[in-house]
Amino acid sequence: MTQNKLIVSNWKMNLKLSDSRILVKKIIKSSKIIKPHIKKIICPQFLLIPHISDLIKKTKICLGSQNCHYQESGAFTGESSIELLKKFKCKYVILGHSERRKYNAETNSMILKKIQTAFNHGLKPIVCIGETINLRKKNKYLEFLETQLHGSVPNMEEIIIAYEPIWSIGSGLIPSFSDILEINNFVKKYLYERKQLKKVSFLYGGSVSSKNIKGIIENSDIDGALIGGSSLNAEEILKIVSIFNFY
Ligand code: PEP
Repeated sequence: MTQNKLIVSNWKMNLKLSDSRILVKKIIKSSKIIKPHIKKIICPQFLLIPHISDLIKKTKICLGSQNCHYQESGAFTGESSIELLKKFKCKYVILGHSERRKYNAETNSMILKKIQTAFNHGLKPIVCIGETINLRKKNKYLEFLETQLHGSVPNMEEIIIAYEPIWSIGSGLIPSFSDILEINNFVKKYLYERKQLKKVSFLYGGSVSSKNIKGIIENSDIDGALIGGSSLNAEEILKIVSIFNFY
C-alpha cells in the first residue's frame, strides 16, 4: 500500500507578495499531477499567510506557519497567535527550526511548550532537529539528537519530525542515504519506545533538490521532505512532487 507522504515548503523570509502569488498559481495549475497520497504543505512568512490562504482555499494544498507562540495571547510583542493562524486555515506549524534556535535563542523547553500548545489547539507540529558538522565529525550526533528529542517532544499521540542537519541546510551537501536511514530508525525507535508515541512521521530536510530526492526516497524510507531553497522555484518543486508521486 502507498504510504502518505508530506512535502513541506519552507519559504523562510523569502518572496514578495507578487512572487508568492505567481509561485502558488503555478503550483495550483499543476496540482492535478499531485497524487492523493501526497500532502503538499506551504509554509510562508506570517504576512503572506492570509493571501496564500485565499489563493489555495479551493485546492487540496495545505497551509502551515513557520512559528507560533506558546501562549494564546498577551504581551508578546512581535509574535503571532495560534488563534489567528487557525483563522487563516493553517493546519501545520514548523517548530524548532535551527535558524530559530540560533537567531531567536529558542531552547528545547520553549519548543516543548510550543509543540504542546499547537497540538492542544489542533495545529500539527513539524518539529526540526539536527546536528552541527562538529558533532557529526566527533561522532556525537546521536547523543545530541536524543537530547533534542528528550527535551522538546512532549507526551502526545503523534508527531512529524524533520531531520535537518545544520551543515546541510542551504549548503548543497546532504548526508549519505544510509546516514539518513540511521537517523530515521533512531528517531522512530526513541519516540515509540521512550515516549510512547503512536505515530511518528520522519521527514528529511537540507538541500533537497529534484536531483537528489529520488535516491533519498528509495534508500532512506522517509515519509516526506522539508524543502527550503528548492521550494521557491515552481519548476523545481513540481519536479520534486512528480518524483514523490511514484512512491
Ligand atoms: C530548511 O532550512 O528548512 C531547508 C530545508 O533549507 P534548504 O532546503 O534550503 O537546505
